[in-house]
Amino acid sequence: MSSSKHIENRNDYQTPALVDYIRKAFSPEDTRHQYLLDQMQKNNLPEIQIGASEGKLLQLLIHSCGAKKAVEIGTLGGYSALWIADALPEGGKLYTMEYDPKTAAGTEKALKEVGLSEKVSIVVGDANETLKTIESFGPFDFCFIDADKISYPHYLLWAERNLRPGGIVAADNAYLFGQVHLNPATAGDDAPAISAMQKVIKILTDPSRFSMSAMIPTGEGLAVGIKKPPAE
Ligand code: SAH
Ligand code: MG
Repeated sequence: MSSSKHIENRNDYQTPALVDYIRKAFSPEDTRHQYLLDQMQKNNLPEIQIGASEGKLLQLLIHSCGAKKAVEIGTLGGYSALWIADALPEGGKLYTMEYDPKTAAGTEKALKEVGLSEKVSIVVGDANETLKTIESFGPFDFCFIDADKISYPHYLLWAERNLRPGGIVAADNAYLFGQVHLNPATAGDDAPAISAMQKVIKILTDPSRFSMSAMIPTGEGLAVGIKKPPAE
């Protein structure tokens, strides 16, 4: 018998070459993805967008719940918005929330250039405030959370209220840069973000609120939950 222990989510197979092969096979990009990435560079935006493999994963989630109406919190250069919008059917709609007006203006232009000005609307301002303004367009089928970590509990509670039963919420960076498991009491400056992410995990894994949940072990951790239908 092998003496090797089962290692959960082992990632030691994931060499750069293997990851590259998988990305090309499952998540090929076209000129629009490259255009948005180029514009991000031009506009001096940080390279903190999701990877193509995560984009495809979001599309899988969107198709699995038949989503037509989606919300994204954290637009940046519109790269994840492109993946999300492509998975929505014709007539589908993505509202994407962006704090920074300059970023939003540049991205609005770029999204128009790739033909998404109708399918995607950028809502400018602090999502803690602006989410209220789109509630009347709900309930929504899918929500992607990818902005300031401290506000994740607020965003998740908003999603819980504004998703239809069976709708899916996905939160990026759920490993909190390798810190999600730490004790906030001894974590110093990062304590508020750690507490916030631990709260998110607590809510998502409560079967009375989300009928199914899992942490998808992407590089950054993608926490996913399906909103529970109300009790009969
Ligand atoms: N989802 C993008 C990356 C988002 S990066 C992609 O994968 O392509 C996070 C973005 O959230 C940044 O553009 C930042 O300006 C924005 N942001 C941060 N705090 C916010 C807030 N309170 N409300 C809305 N957007 C916020
Ligand atoms: Mg992210």
